[in-house]
Amino acid sequence: MFIDLHLHSTFSDGTFAPEEVARRAKRAGLAAVSLTDHDTVAGCERMAAACAEQKIEFIPGTELTADLEGIELHILGYFLNLRHAPFLEALSHFQDVRVQRIHDMAAKLNALDVPLTADAVFAVANCRSPGRPHIARALVEGGFCATFDEAFERFLKQGRPAWVPKFKVSAAAAIRLIHEAGGAAVLAHPLLNRCDHLIPALAAAGLDGIEVLHTKHSPTDTARYTALAREHGLLTTGGSDCHGLNKGKPLIGTVKVPHAWLEPLRLRAAQQGLAHGPQLAAAV
Ligand code: AMP
Ligand code: FE
Ligand code: FE
Ligand code: ZN
Repeated sequence: MFIDLHLHSTFSDGTFAPEEVARRAKRAGLAAVSLTDHDTVAGCERMAAACAEQKIEFIPGTELTADLEGIELHILGYFLNLRHAPFLEALSHFQDVRVQRIHDMAAKLNALDVPLTADAVFAVANCRSPGRPHIARALVEGGFCATFDEAFERFLKQGRPAWVPKFKVSAAAAIRLIHEAGGAAVLAHPLLNRCDHLIPALAAAGLDGIEVLHTKHSPTDTARYTALAREHGLLTTGGSDCHGLNKGKPLIGTVKVPHAWLEPLRLRAAQQGLAHGPQLAAAV
């Protein structure tokens, strides 16, 4: 029995609606899944209903973009209370930052004589969490770039002419927000962010786990991160980071994450919720 704890939908930069993600999860034989759209939980209600229909366990999740020592990190939140107002307010702020960044990047493109409008990007994104993948798709649809990858290479990658730095919440604040919403905080794809040296500081800040299994991790990477997790008392998790058809073929279910990893994560989230949740906050 396998699970996939890292999936994106049309509520951020994935190309499948939640119902399509759930259908494909069923076809892949998954026992449980989480939806981890960037800086949002807006797709979780539909995903919960779709998973109930498919008889798959659903774990409400998100993927926050955070910063530690100038390095961008992605922090996954699991078993979140979807009605926790302070968490929803923080997400809403991160989404506003994303929308503003689309305007800023469109202005940079315009200065480069690429007449892409922010509205064309918002039409492609059709969600509150727009990002560079939506700009890339709009550039292709507008005939300004031949491919999605070309859009990143020519314009959107860090250091390329239309790139704009993004405000990021601190990693400690991201972890705290997740805990206060009753969730467990997990470092996503550490290999992609080259942040191995930050794992001790993240553990000290309350991180609960490391995503050791990921599409981009080799067996050697997974072994290294598993050892680091053990060393720092962190749980191990994993997921495919499927973005639908954005990056070639759908990845859902291709990373074999043991179902047995779910229960410890659930327990850890419950403990964090008790320690940092509203009851305690009200008492302070
Ligand atoms: P953003 O949150 O707007 O900074 O966009 C980040 C997203 O863009 C990530 O989730 C990746 O999926 C995608 N991405 C980042 N770099 C590249 C790249 N070089 N080629 C394709 N996709 C990328
Ligand atoms: Fe993404
Ligand atoms: Fe990520
Ligand atoms: Zn992701």
